[in-house]
Amino acid sequence: MLLFEQLNIQHRTFNIEHRIIEKSNTETQMKYIETDKPETLAGHKIERQEKFSFRCHSEISCFNQCCRNLNLFLYPYDIVRLKQRLKISSDQFLDRYVDIVLRETNFFPEVLLSMAENDPKTCPFLTSDGCTVYTDRPDACRTFPLEQGLYYNARTSETTSVYFFKPPDFCMGQHEKQQWTIETWAEDQQAVIYNQMTAHWSEIKRLFQDNPWGPAGPNGALGKMAFMATYNVDRFRDFVFKSSMIKRYSIKKKTLNKIKKDDAALMKFGFEWVKLVVWGIASALIRPV
Ligand code: SF4
Ligand code: SF4
Repeated sequence: MLLFEQLNIQHRTFNIEHRIIEKSNTETQMKYIETDKPETLAGHKIERQEKFSFRCHSEISCFNQCCRNLNLFLYPYDIVRLKQRLKISSDQFLDRYVDIVLRETNFFPEVLLSMAENDPKTCPFLTSDGCTVYTDRPDACRTFPLEQGLYYNARTSETTSVYFFKPPDFCMGQHEKQQWTIETWAEDQQAVIYNQMTAHWSEIKRLFQDNPWGPAGPNGALGKMAFMATYNVDRFRDFVFKSSMIKRYSIKKKTLNKIKKDDAALMKFGFEWVKLVVWGIASALIRPV
């Protein structure tokens, strides 16, 4: 296999844990929707110009109730921002803060934030004053009380973002008077870049609905490499610059200079690399020599 024959970097081994995700307080994740009838899906689908009421503040009776017992799905850009915020490597972040789960309907693992080992199972970043990583909180936390989905039209192969208004019953913010549209809410929460990055990732994730790994499965060498390239940017940087990779692929000098220092650029480069090596999808950023 041309990809790994000269690989000399040691990678952290992970064993993807097969487990059913237990029902929790709230599930926050982006969903990929493959249907001709999005109007039949659960939750209230919000149109672009439609308004919804919401306000969250520290005096509200449910303050901090939502940041516990969550199935909080983390996407690659969430991990880039959180590990930068915590001043640790992506490897350390994955070791300390996540559960890796393989759902039966997908061939790429999901990454969930591990809740603290206390009775209410709070988010590890929650204190009585609120969120300690607020300006770098994950996409799902920014987008809440909306949930973002991608609607895939199988006939045209076009993808569009759709949003659902889905606050849990205990969330009192939905009874406040302040009104938003999808756009004004995303701007207020500084979620625009997060929503874009997550949509970009979900386009790739959708490809994993079919098994690309063969008998080795996602725990095989290629599966682990793909996980590293998308979720573990610091390991992937070592792989790019310290293995034989740059001899085996043509990558522009400008791209190499950028990905050497810029984690988000490296993450997007990793997406392109995975598309190339797993499905043979050509990329302007990288091609085999
Ligand atoms: S209003 Fe909703 S989002 Fe805000 S603290 Fe209460 S439950 Fe959480
Ligand atoms: S990251 Fe912050 S906003 Fe998100 S669940 Fe944790 S404490 Fe709440």
